[in-house]
Amino acid sequence: MIKLRENIASMAGYVPGYQPPDISTWIKLNTNENSFPPSPKVVDAILAELNSDGASLRTYPSASSQKLREIAGEVYGFDPSWIIMANGSDEVLNNLIRAFASEGEEIGYIHPSYSYYATLAEIQGAKVRKFGLTDDFRIADFPDRYSGKIFFLTTPNSPLGFAFPLQYIEELAQKCDGMLVIDEAYVDFAGYNALELIKKYDNVVITRTLSKSYSLAGMRLGFAVARPEVIAALDKIRDHYNLDRLAQAACGAALKDREYFKTCCNKIIETREWFSAELRNIGYNVIPSCSNFVFASTPDRNGKRVYDWLYDRKILVRYFSDPLLSHGLRISIGTRGEMEVTLEAMKELG
Ligand SMILES: *Cc1c(COP(=O)(O)O)cnc(C)c1O
Repeated sequence: MIKLRENIASMAGYVPGYQPPDISTWIKLNTNENSFPPSPKVVDAILAELNSDGASLRTYPSASSQKLREIAGEVYGFDPSWIIMANGSDEVLNNLIRAFASEGEEIGYIHPSYSYYATLAEIQGAKVRKFGLTDDFRIADFPDRYSGKIFFLTTPNSPLGFAFPLQYIEELAQKCDGMLVIDEAYVDFAGYNALELIKKYDNVVITRTLSKSYSLAGMRLGFAVARPEVIAALDKIRDHYNLDRLAQAACGAALKDREYFKTCCNKIIETREWFSAELRNIGYNVIPSCSNFVFASTPDRNGKRVYDWLYDRKILVRYFSDPLLSHGLRISIGTRGEMEVTLEAMKELG
């Protein structure tokens, strides 16, 4: 007789966006990956690490990824003791819950945002409180003092694409008795970020990923910035060799190539603005986006109809059956060429 923990037996489990087996035959705009390849220096660094016969793979990688903390520290303006590297930012989100929320304690997040926080909390046996959004994209009924152990703030928001103003985020940091974890997965497309709040408030943590703006979803790389006491706690919890050798090589090269990174982000932002304007011209309601995707309500408020039409043309976008979101689609911003094909298909449907 298999006796699972009650919360594991009853939970549904997270369902990620669809990854088709014949991925290269699709225009894939459903999981906010980057359509541009990573910096060529990333490939060079991985090949150099492999070193023709792969001998380096015999030995464990750096357990602390210390060099990467130094590089990220330099890029983002923090002492390395304020940074931890992660096997995807999902890893560090998980470890934050393990560090701060015991069984029965509460974490909070916004619906709609990244529902994986709820899955991670369920595994831990923590309670989850969802907050809604007002029409002008503020948190509905956020208390003057929030006593949950962690509040997860996805900004820019996914799937809606807007970002909270810095002033508003700062007020939330003041209202949280527990930690405010600011998930900045998309912040490189926004033009501003909340890093300065970490220096001002000891309860603020920022998580970042290399999956979107650095084109490295396949390498599983992320990091968090927080006070050294928080970083030290997260270091106790993580798998000791959480980043493999090839991931560490890729990460360093990607973070160092600022020129390539900026050029890619700018291209995506430019294409996003063009695509948003074009969609508005054909009757879509597009939320102004600070991300590498847009959320667009279709003219007949029927996201599924457009999703199916695009799917039949091998264009994959994200449809959510949730009644809060089913009137629209979340469409990642790919290359200009990919977005032109997508737009033409949408025009054809009318
Ligand atoms: C993509 C995404 C992540 C996960 O990032 P990984 O580094 O790929 O694990 C975390 N939060 C949000 C809001 C995301 O969209």
